[in-house]
Amino acid sequence: MLQRGDNSGLRAILRTPLCIVMAYQIKEVFYTLQGEGLQAGRPAVFCRFAGCNFWNGREQDRAQSICSFCDTDFVGTDGPLGGTFREATELARHIAAQWPAGQPGKPYVVLTGGEPLLQVDDALVDALHAEGFEVAVETNGSIAAPAGIDWICVSPKSLQHWVQRSGNELKLVWPQAGMTLDAVRDNTDFAHYLLQPLDDAQRSQHTQTCIAACLKDPRWRLSLQNHKITGIR
Ligand code: SF4
Repeated sequence: MLQRGDNSGLRAILRTPLCIVMAYQIKEVFYTLQGEGLQAGRPAVFCRFAGCNFWNGREQDRAQSICSFCDTDFVGTDGPLGGTFREATELARHIAAQWPAGQPGKPYVVLTGGEPLLQVDDALVDALHAEGFEVAVETNGSIAAPAGIDWICVSPKSLQHWVQRSGNELKLVWPQAGMTLDAVRDNTDFAHYLLQPLDDAQRSQHTQTCIAACLKDPRWRLSLQNHKITGIR
């Protein structure tokens, strides 16, 4: 796990030849509606990759981690339809099997985590395209995205470790300590900029803060976590 100020990380390890042996570590795969961001409401297969470079998932380390407000269990491969997949084609077929067969419309997959870009590579993107999928990724932005991903959503948690500064959607959990909205927008190139209220004990207050920020600067728009509001997964 990266600690504050540490710019190396798990990705460097995972990009070594050993990674080929490790293959893809998947926490869970499930079919649902995208809950947040510009694509909210869209049916999608979610593929949650195990592991994150901003937190190791252990509660005793949360306060010292780069990202301390995570709401996701990304540890291990023991979730529904999770597991270890040695080949990109094997994982792509596994994902494709969750999409309703024979229905019209473009299949859509969201690669999320954890930090999916620790593991997503060209081979997987190509294999998912071969299965007919439009491929989206949700990343903390600390690793450059492979070419060919169709929808890049970056949710930065650290200005210091932010590498992927362009894409389709910047979805900022707000407020975050040590950030200003101007600093987040600076030197970025996204098609859409969204503010999403931090989901902690003051979520109602944060929601009002986000609404006020969007009204003040219309370049931002509000993103709510509809899956939590509606109770869908
Ligand atoms: S970067 Fe994302 S997955 Fe990683 S700890 Fe933070 S919220 Fe969780």
